[in-house]
Amino acid sequence: MKKDCFISAVFAVMLWAILPAVSFAQKENINPSDYFDVYTTEYAEKVVDFLASERLKGREAGTKQAVKAMKFIVKEFKKVGYEPILQQFSNEELADAIGKPKEGKEPYPLQQCNVVAELKGKNQDKYIVVGAHYDHLGYKEGVGIHPGADDNASGIVALLSLAKMMKASGVVPQYTLLFCAWDGEEKGLLGSKYFVNTWPSDLIVPECGASLKESVVCYMNFDMVGRTITPENPGVTFAWNNNYPYLLDICKKAQESISKPFQVLLDERRGDGKGGSDYAPFSAQDIPFIAWMEDFMHEDYHKPTDTPDKLHWEKLRKTTLLAYLILFDLIVE
Ligand SMILES: [Zn+2]
Repeated sequence: MKKDCFISAVFAVMLWAILPAVSFAQKENINPSDYFDVYTTEYAEKVVDFLASERLKGREAGTKQAVKAMKFIVKEFKKVGYEPILQQFSNEELADAIGKPKEGKEPYPLQQCNVVAELKGKNQDKYIVVGAHYDHLGYKEGVGIHPGADDNASGIVALLSLAKMMKASGVVPQYTLLFCAWDGEEKGLLGSKYFVNTWPSDLIVPECGASLKESVVCYMNFDMVGRTITPENPGVTFAWNNNYPYLLDICKKAQESISKPFQVLLDERRGDGKGGSDYAPFSAQDIPFIAWMEDFMHEDYHKPTDTPDKLHWEKLRKTTLLAYLILFDLIVE
């Protein structure tokens, strides 16, 4: 997550009070809130504690600690019945897909790897992509290890928990879901750019012959969703592509089912490719996107002090549940 994302969040408007209350409809005889208990804070803590541990040394893209983080995520997907695909790419393949780094910029890491877990839908030509980056800044001489508990172990909790909840509900989604753990975000959104620019990849979507714009119904991103400036009434920012106003309508509806205290800050965006996290490559193609992010850029941003003890676990839980309801609305007729 980069700072520019946050600037408009400061001006985000809270509209909930003036919006009509619409209850979250039950669809296909599945009541999604029946599966809220699949999310546990115990699991969230386990994921964050591992990813932000000293052993993982800040999981910088291209290091063996990033590979350890990747393997952990693979294992977690497998535990709940997914067969994740590894989208590995070298610096040369990356350069072919997105161009070489500009002069004077850091070279790309030699090897990186996105992890993609698929839940097949009824309509296998259309996709919903859910993503969060797992890499962080690593170890810096004279500074120390950057644990990245909020940035972005918190997002990986949301990603893994959503995958678990969707599996547990037994729903066959209308569209195929792709749960993606991105590498290289901190190096310039490399993993998500590679994914977007090599779509339709034979490895990930072998049956899809269409462009990203034609195939991806929605992209949902999580980056820094574990902390809040107002712990007594925790908040999360909901940014969305305002060329698709129905995304806001779904959010308003779903929020009725999330208990207070909890607030959602609105941050309108256009599909213009702007943004400092992995939704930007999707936005550049005007894909309908939702980006969950911090309510306030905290002082531990990109510092060795971004540690697990500072997370607000209830905020993380409620953010994930709200995202789950929205996802459910998008995939169930
Ligand atoms: Zn970051």
